[in-house]
Amino acid sequence: MSFDYDLFVIGGGSGGVRAARVASAEGAKVALAEEYRMGGTCVIRGCVPKKLMVFASGYKDLVHDAQAYGWEASVGDFDWDVFRPKMHAELDRLEGIYRNILKSNNVEAFDARAEIKDAHTVTLSTGQDITAKHILVATGGTPFTPDVEGAEHTITSNEIFLQEKLPGSILIVGGGFIASEFACIMHGLGVKVTQFYRGEMILRGFDKGSATHIADAMKSRGIDLQLGADVAKIVKTDAGLEVTAKDGSTQVFDAVMYGTGRVPATKGMGLAEVGVNLGRKGEVLVDAYSQTSVPSIYAVGDVTDRINLTPVAIREGMAFVETVFKANPTPVDHELVPSAVFTQPEFGTTGLTEEEAVDYAATHGPVEVYTTAFKAMQSGFAGRENKVFMKLLVDQHKRTVLGCHLVMDGAGELIQLAGIPVKMGATKEDFDRTCAVHPTMAEELVTMKTPSHVIGG
Ligand code: NDP
Repeated sequence: MSFDYDLFVIGGGSGGVRAARVASAEGAKVALAEEYRMGGTCVIRGCVPKKLMVFASGYKDLVHDAQAYGWEASVGDFDWDVFRPKMHAELDRLEGIYRNILKSNNVEAFDARAEIKDAHTVTLSTGQDITAKHILVATGGTPFTPDVEGAEHTITSNEIFLQEKLPGSILIVGGGFIASEFACIMHGLGVKVTQFYRGEMILRGFDKGSATHIADAMKSRGIDLQLGADVAKIVKTDAGLEVTAKDGSTQVFDAVMYGTGRVPATKGMGLAEVGVNLGRKGEVLVDAYSQTSVPSIYAVGDVTDRINLTPVAIREGMAFVETVFKANPTPVDHELVPSAVFTQPEFGTTGLTEEEAVDYAATHGPVEVYTTAFKAMQSGFAGRENKVFMKLLVDQHKRTVLGCHLVMDGAGELIQLAGIPVKMGATKEDFDRTCAVHPTMAEELVTMKTPSHVIGG
């Protein structure tokens, strides 16, 4: 049977574009459809604009520190009207680069929605049917907003970058990556921020001691972080959005943003209808090679809800091409993936959390916990109270470093490097025989001599 293409990719984000480009380089005839903007969530309404806003939000502290170091510096108000068009121009530039990558790699791009008609056919929103030997679903995810009265007045991370003007005050709901990062960003830009998280500590699933350190720092910077708090209803009034919390208290905000998770973008895709098994959240269920229950259909990235991070989606896309177009079956390694949460202070993390170490210790033996918290020289001199926090988890018998958690300026950059020895299986003694670099904050990583406690000891 002959097909129009060897590969049809649905979704022009990180995973889809990488798979399309690499498959084409292998000689495959490839097409890709994207219904919104090329580049996907990461480039258009995620990591990239978020990081630009993280940078923008950090300058107030920098100016304050500069003053403390003797500079005659002053900071006025943040001007969204100056920053916003520059940010969007940068996103346009990056989208152009993504388009060029496809073009220069002979991938045919369709600016259209594609849905699955059968195991080898997609139907475009233009009405056109296209056949392919393989179909790769890389449609990512979309923000989830709970069914709360008045939710129609709220925004999500999709809209936050598009606002015409910054609100004077904002309520951010949720305690995960997105809610916590945006609480810090908006605060840094001069917005009065309240954050509601329904649980006992933000960043659930991360190392709790590190999360607690971040939450305390956020509060001391002036963010009104309310734990055990949730929204009961939202009413639009002349004064703004009147939010009634579940404890009955009310407060008025200029804006309410939900950062309450994302759901895989599989709705209306025709996947279940052709026999692709979906999970409880609508995620595409795949095997280690990203193959679905329909052999010609594969899926990578957030739509599979494995580890929802851009570099993971890219790796899944590349492993798919190895497996399908290079006859080299390659499972994706999802172990010890380092990541960063761009809160202020920043959080870099890899491996086992202290909470996970309890289970680990029950089966593998005791885990040593090394922690340190200290005032950083640079910000301490400037009179800022924030402290650096570090934690290493070590298998007491094997000596392997199982987890590394850093809360400090530059933690995202640092965990990229610390992630290498942890992934290599380095021992605590490997860390310790590496000479310290002085004076740095990171030197403490190789000078923590005595465990603060032992789990399962
Ligand atoms: P997360 O799953 O990280 O967090 C969702 C938050 O919303 C949790 O605090 C959750 O609470 C809360 N929540 C969920 N449902 C409700 C509800 N019905 N009512 C009230 N609160 C609710 O999702 P995010 O949206 O923050 O991020 C989505 C994904 O995007 C992340 O998993 C991450 O992979 C990726 N991402 C990565 C970033 C990075 O690498 N720096 C940055 C941003 C996003 P509870 O804990 O109680 O369930």
